[in-house]
Amino acid sequence: MNKDQPILAASILSADFLKLGDQVRQVQDSGVDWLHIDVMDGHFVPNLTMGPFIVEACRRTSQLPIDVHLMVTEPDFLLEAFVRAGADHLTVHVEACADLPATINKIKALKVKAGVTLNPETPFSHIFPFLDQVDGVLVMTVHPGYSGQQFMPGTVEKISAIRNHLDRIRSSAWLAVDGGINPATLPETRRAGADVFISASTIFKNPGGIKKGVRSLRDALL
Ligand code: ZN
Repeated sequence: MNKDQPILAASILSADFLKLGDQVRQVQDSGVDWLHIDVMDGHFVPNLTMGPFIVEACRRTSQLPIDVHLMVTEPDFLLEAFVRAGADHLTVHVEACADLPATINKIKALKVKAGVTLNPETPFSHIFPFLDQVDGVLVMTVHPGYSGQQFMPGTVEKISAIRNHLDRIRSSAWLAVDGGINPATLPETRRAGADVFISASTIFKNPGGIKKGVRSLRDALL
């Protein structure tokens, strides 16, 4: 992926679900590149959010790529349902998979992009052996489970280490950051080598509206 063309992804976790269709259309009209769906199972993380039916609803409303982040223990049983609902990328947690290469292969067999992610306290070495097998890497820059948390500056070093390794193995995988991304924290993660920026609150909870929220992130990318 060309680092000069950063991707902005809107996580609908902070959307108003009574107005979801309207808000998804607004982020699309505002020039967001991907929709990001945070799936939480109440087990891998304490919170419980959404399943394939929300992906299906977004698919009916938008042509944007749908990037599904599975914060789910043993996600293998759910992969097909999310692909059938319209997901374009499935990202799984290294901590949640008993056999990560097998899960990555299952995702690829479903003809969608496969991503891997890791929690802030999980060392980079846990995903290191698998980086040549994935289409994308997501670095959690907060503890997964809730939107609206503060960015953890200690994760910047991990972003750089992963970027260096992806470059070394000539991987074109995207490197995403997720959690506490706003106009103040985004530039540091970009300098460290991230090229996909996932944001929920900055977009959906902006007091000036969704368009302004998206613009503030685009401006931070200039
Ligand atoms: Zn996410």
